[in-house]
Amino acid sequence: MLSIAKCAVSSCPEHAATGSDRCLRHSDSPEELKRAASVLLLQSREHERLNLSGMSFSGLDLSEHKFSSCLFSQIDLRGVAFRRCSFTLCFFDFAEITDCAFGESKIMYTVFAGSKIVQSDFSGCDLLHTNMNGVDCLDTKFDDSDLYFSRFIAAHLTSVSFIDCNLKKVYFSAAQLSQVSFKYSNYEEAEFREDPILP
Ligand SMILES: [Zn+2]
Repeated sequence: MLSIAKCAVSSCPEHAATGSDRCLRHSDSPEELKRAASVLLLQSREHERLNLSGMSFSGLDLSEHKFSSCLFSQIDLRGVAFRRCSFTLCFFDFAEITDCAFGESKIMYTVFAGSKIVQSDFSGCDLLHTNMNGVDCLDTKFDDSDLYFSRFIAAHLTSVSFIDCNLKKVYFSAAQLSQVSFKYSNYEEAEFREDPILP
């Protein structure tokens, strides 16, 4: 369980947003919280237990930052640079990720499930034990990456490349693949079989 405080509204199941005792929806000044979060992100390179869920950021350069146990659920990221970052146990579920650069990052035990990922770059990453289940991913590269034990179950992948990747124990079960390249990758060690319990 993540040790991030819950929203002060007793009936609310959400976590409190960073900089507030309430979630973004119950905050009196969500725009001010977003502005403060932008400043905080640029002030330090090490971030732990942030909750930026539901916020939107564009054009930030957060390269070489470290993130652990952070919530980015339903975040909207456009043109954000995360090159050579590290992410451990972070949650980007149901996020909108457009034109973002994650190249050469170390991404472990992280969740992108249900996200829409467009024109983004995950080249040269260690993207290990990470949950990409149900992502809608378009025009995106994972080239030269180690994806060991990551999951793309029921994902929709269109114009996505996995060139020269380690795909050992990577699951693509029930995924819809269109114009996907696995050139020079060990795709025979990935799992493409349909799982009978999946829709
Ligand atoms: Zn709340």
